[in-house]
Amino acid sequence: MKTFIVGNWKLNFNVGEASIYLHKLQKKLPNYRDVEVVVAPSTIALQPLSLQIDRHKMKLAAQNAFYRDYGAFTGETSFSQLRGVVDYCIIGHSERRYIFGEDDKMVAKKMEAAVRNKITPILCIGETESERSFGETADVIRDQLLGGLRDVSEEDIDKVLIAYEPVWAISSGKNAKIASPDEVAEVVKLIRKTLEEIYGEKVAENMPVLFGGSVNPSNAGAYLTVPGVNGLLIGGASLILSEFADILEIAKRVRS
Ligand code: PEP
Repeated sequence: MKTFIVGNWKLNFNVGEASIYLHKLQKKLPNYRDVEVVVAPSTIALQPLSLQIDRHKMKLAAQNAFYRDYGAFTGETSFSQLRGVVDYCIIGHSERRYIFGEDDKMVAKKMEAAVRNKITPILCIGETESERSFGETADVIRDQLLGGLRDVSEEDIDKVLIAYEPVWAISSGKNAKIASPDEVAEVVKLIRKTLEEIYGEKVAENMPVLFGGSVNPSNAGAYLTVPGVNGLLIGGASLILSEFADILEIAKRVRS
């Protein structure tokens, strides 16, 4: 399985800035064989960047999309409109859940729509600090995982990526903490165990599981060597070209 390194740019970079970043990154990047490099710019930048991107070197992800293909949904962009423009879409990010009120039902519909439109969904799951402190991590992870995958058929389950992102470790959060590799290992094990119960051993083993939460060049190597972690979802550090490039090099080194 490849190692997935996904940069989530969130609401940063206008189209010109995004294009310059992409240009510089592509120039710097070798052709990684075992590392899938993905960046997720704002929706407005996706179309122009899709014409600029060298898909042999990297891929584009959307940060969000709506599950209906067309209709009276002011302000939305559908997965069908993004088909052919992006290869991936981040779904259920904690900022969508807690700022925009997306629940597991909405997340499930988006997962289904992504797969239907040949866009690989990256399902984000993770507990908040208070859920962890009340000992609810396992329940939250299970609920978000099963809730988010509910509308994906067994036949399509191998087209999905999971990202474990403890909300308390995301750098934009108040007093973000650093998740220890052991804490990550424990939850990733739980994710795979839950997948095994529902979909069987093969699915559980083959599902790429990424980690995200304040990843930077000094901790990337440690997270990438956590058993069961197949990649990283990176917010803040992906905005700094040199840091993102350093993380890619670390990923390549860990693989070899
Ligand atoms: C994220 O928001 O997906 C994320 C992991 O952010 P950061 O790397 O900045 O913590």
